Amino acid sequence: MPYPFPRDALPTPALVIDLAALERNIAAMAAFAAARGIKLRPHAKTHKSAEIALRQIAGGAVGICCAKLGEAEALVDAGAADIHLTSPVVRPDAIARLAALNRRIALSVVVDHPDTVVALDAGVDAPLTVLIDVDPGMLRTGVASAEAAVALARAITASARLKLGGVQFYCGSLQHVPALAERRAALAERAEYLRSVLAALAEAGFAVSHVTGGGTGSFAIDAELGVLTELQVGSYVFMDREYRDCEAAGPGFETALFVDATVVSVNAPGRVTIDAGLKAFAADAGVPVVLAGAEGRYVFTGDEHGAVIGAVPPGLGARVVLMPPHCDPTVNLYDRYHLVAGDEVIGAWPVTARGCST
Ligand code: PLP
Ligand code: MN
Repeated sequence: MPYPFPRDALPTPALVIDLAALERNIAAMAAFAAARGIKLRPHAKTHKSAEIALRQIAGGAVGICCAKLGEAEALVDAGAADIHLTSPVVRPDAIARLAALNRRIALSVVVDHPDTVVALDAGVDAPLTVLIDVDPGMLRTGVASAEAAVALARAITASARLKLGGVQFYCGSLQHVPALAERRAALAERAEYLRSVLAALAEAGFAVSHVTGGGTGSFAIDAELGVLTELQVGSYVFMDREYRDCEAAGPGFETALFVDATVVSVNAPGRVTIDAGLKAFAADAGVPVVLAGAEGRYVFTGDEHGAVIGAVPPGLGARVVLMPPHCDPTVNLYDRYHLVAGDEVIGAWPVTARGCST
């Protein structure tokens, strides 16, 4: 179908971006970072899209973050040239791919274990920038103490090809603390811990001037606290129900990501069935919000279906617009984004790195 065409004509379930809202979100974060003098390196794990990454870079970002090597490879093929990998790379086959990528672009990667330092040093054939991943207490990745950070800094500087590029500190488990005051207090306490790690590194002769981290729930507080030099924010481009349910700080961001669905059955009283279920939304963060086309609450009813339960159910074939509960894993369920302006579909972008999780 030639563009533009009516949004109602999209086959469903469809992943939809409000392009103007997306562009406002990109610009608002860029303006915030510029005003605070903090570098911006948005996380591409959220959108997995070359189009969006290139817009973020055009808006002033220094580059992008990727969670996985495969994600980075896909986005490099589409034009990204400066990438920080926020997860450790440890397998020999993955290190070989990392070495190949390191020959093509400006690349950095986190490390959190001395064995990885040895393996990376042996596996690359050109200088590679590595950042010490410091665990803020999430127990996911990162070194668990200042002493471990210092030991890793020693191993990195003693290696032949690795260059110590700084520290990563991502407080993932604090991003969605709903009350702002509580989130701020927890982040302030963690910032003190980070300061103690940086002080231990400095005392051992490793002055670190680059600290990357932060997310959509913390970036404004991180900027106030002044420990990070670079923001890794991801979800702000789209927002989702999980973030909408949290008290915001900093510039406001709009919902820019939607799933459009169709009412496919109306035979049960007080509810209708729509064609968007577990294959249309990641379900780790609760349920989507029904935004338009119906009034009521959504419940998952299966792989392919959900229900809208409400007093005045819409009719068969009606179009329902929903807000995903958690944007990143929802995006990974789709091959493409449909772009809308008002009620018209004006284009489509591939989810460039869909499924690239190795
Ligand atoms: N940095 C890292 C290491 C992450 O894992 C994530 C998301 O999970 C982000 C940054 C972006 O966070 P958010 O999507 O909350 O902005
Ligand atoms: Mn997420």
